Amino acid sequence: MERYSRCELCPRLCRVNRTIGQLGRCGETAECRIASITPHFGEEPCLTGQHGSGTIFFSGCSCGCLFCQNHQISQQHQGQPYTMERLIAETQELIAKGVHNLNFVTPEHWWPHIQQLCEAIRKDHPDLPFVWNSSGYSRVEMLKEQTKLIDIFLPDFKFADATLSQRCIHTTDYPSVARDAIRYLVDAVGFLRPFDETGEITASRGVMVRHLVLPGFVENSLQVLEWLYDDFGPKLPISIMSQFTPVPACAEQDFLNRRLTKDEYKQVCDKVDELGFTRVFLQPDFGDDAFMPDFNDKQPFAGNRNH
Ligand code: SF4
Repeated sequence: MERYSRCELCPRLCRVNRTIGQLGRCGETAECRIASITPHFGEEPCLTGQHGSGTIFFSGCSCGCLFCQNHQISQQHQGQPYTMERLIAETQELIAKGVHNLNFVTPEHWWPHIQQLCEAIRKDHPDLPFVWNSSGYSRVEMLKEQTKLIDIFLPDFKFADATLSQRCIHTTDYPSVARDAIRYLVDAVGFLRPFDETGEITASRGVMVRHLVLPGFVENSLQVLEWLYDDFGPKLPISIMSQFTPVPACAEQDFLNRRLTKDEYKQVCDKVDELGFTRVFLQPDFGDDAFMPDFNDKQPFAGNRNH
């Protein structure tokens, strides 16, 4: 846990001592806090399968998007403290429910804990895929460690537009940082495989890039797609999400304060077709709030309650 004492776990490079309670941009000390550990049925079918993805939702976030759909935990820091013993025990209970993978959501700032957890779990579950479900705002230096233990990477590629990045996460470097991170990851672990759109066979290794289309910023999405195509060609697995829902911070700043329109999403999907991407998850169900979480609820996702 020494890594927390001069924290350089993410590109923010705050160098604060989290072990004595100092806070960097992620807003978390070295006491691990978690908001939810549960089988989750809202991921892409190749991760959810029949029995769900074993999600662990960590508190805080080093990226800190204005519009974060998980703002209750990423920005308001809801969650409970977890000792390593409790974390391992509850993870084992989660695995016993038959989940297809362990899915670390917003993990960058908790890497020392996750590293220990992975090492403990791997002994008994050599074939269970570990999933790094991240903002894409990652240091390659850290990914070099993470690719030794993690099997599947789901980086977002949020912004190609540096001005939009500045407005949403208070830095202009997201486009270059995320692009370098994804290039490294694809080189290290390859494309997500097997890629089964139906979810009958769940994925075991590789990279799939996610992109949430933002209302009023179709051009940003088109640029993201062009960069991904230029770097990796049309076989890169991608997931293009339409689920944007304005959160209170959007209303306060009167920015991104509406949902996406069908026409905006169609423009992005048309670009996916034009470029010829072949391994694609789309999300056309506008207005479906089943996987918009409320972490005040013991089961935060309404869509998980019937499973
Ligand atoms: S993990 Fe948190 S404290 Fe560490 S560098 Fe990133 S934002 Fe700063």
